Amino acid sequence: MKPVVRVLCSAVLALMLFGGARAQESAILLRPEAVFDGQDLHQDWVVLVRGKRIAAAGPAGAVSLPRGTKTVALKSQTLLPGLIDNHTHMLLHPYDETSWTDQVLKEPLSLRTARAVQHLRATLMAGFTTVRDLGTEGAGYADVGLKQAVEQGIIPGPRMLAATRAIVATGSYGPKGAPEWDLPLGAEEADGQDALIRVVRSQMGKGADWVKIYADYRWGPNGETAPTFSLEELKLVVRTASAAGRPVVAHASSDEGMRRAVLAGFQTIEHGDYGTLATFRLMAQRHVAWCPTLAAGEAIARYHGWRKGRDAMPQRVKDQHTAFARALKAGVTICNGSDAGVFSHGDNATETMLMVEYGLPALQALRAATSVNARILHMQDRIGAIKPGLLADLVAVQGNPVKDIGALKAVRFVMKEGKVYRRD
Ligand SMILES: [Zn+2]
Repeated sequence: MKPVVRVLCSAVLALMLFGGARAQESAILLRPEAVFDGQDLHQDWVVLVRGKRIAAAGPAGAVSLPRGTKTVALKSQTLLPGLIDNHTHMLLHPYDETSWTDQVLKEPLSLRTARAVQHLRATLMAGFTTVRDLGTEGAGYADVGLKQAVEQGIIPGPRMLAATRAIVATGSYGPKGAPEWDLPLGAEEADGQDALIRVVRSQMGKGADWVKIYADYRWGPNGETAPTFSLEELKLVVRTASAAGRPVVAHASSDEGMRRAVLAGFQTIEHGDYGTLATFRLMAQRHVAWCPTLAAGEAIARYHGWRKGRDAMPQRVKDQHTAFARALKAGVTICNGSDAGVFSHGDNATETMLMVEYGLPALQALRAATSVNARILHMQDRIGAIKPGLLADLVAVQGNPVKDIGALKAVRFVMKEGKVYRRD
């Protein structure tokens, strides 16, 4: 072959290959009524998706369309970044179906995993494209395999961040039986310097993206919530996890448990029902986010017979309202974390709706479920907003959730990394 012909041939081949690659990365234009971009609501915006990512977002006239762009009309719908739930338990199902103790002690791992597959699907179809799953509650490292199954496209589900078994202080956690029996627990026990270092490292080695510990639990003399780990132990956990680049999360409901977790350097605190204003102020000062898990608190009150809207508010729910008001006053970063698993997976948006009911403006609640949660996860460069370059995690709901937060439950369209999973 003559050199000129050879050059021409390779040019043609390069064009074919390049053209082929471009054709595969087809462009989709989403045309909703409005776009909430993670910060604010914009009327008459469109969003262009190419491959796995958002290519453009802006007023309809300002976005130039590649040839062959397919348009998806989302009439009367608001497009949002894929929603994020920073506190789920895919390996649990509602406690009014089976008590937590029976789930941990009597359900085979295979049964729990099979259920979790359905939970992942329900969560994605409800518009949640990322979850931080905070502990398998006795189901070992099943979250790690489920996460891989989603990543490999074997099952549909949200992007998962795993905490694996989570860590508790000896004697504090359940299930509890007669003292002469050592029952299997809902988390892994560790205390003191050597054991804590070993268990934190072991869980990270087995796939924990976040290290979770229980800074307090209901193990006081009369079953009241009391701190578990000492401040020194908590600091050790933070140091050990941080050294390996893992963020840390603490379960804490009591004021002292919360205070220790904040001082030790934990990044988020879960529940926090009994935090004082001083502790919430300390959290704001040290940029510790709070996942109030309001939806789980209300679900448990319902399981104890509370009929919301008919009966007087139980003390536990009143306490949640008090804590929420304190956190708002202190200016704490509010994280959207529902504790789904205590109640039905797929009802995750209940948390965001309750935040509004408890006094957070709807726009801020929507930010919590998108851009704020993404920042808490240190993933704001990939998710939580609608802007060019980010992953195309996009959800459309019927109506306008800024005006009526309930619209979050009217999901009509779900896209994750450019792939459409739901279109009603
Ligand atoms: Zn939880």
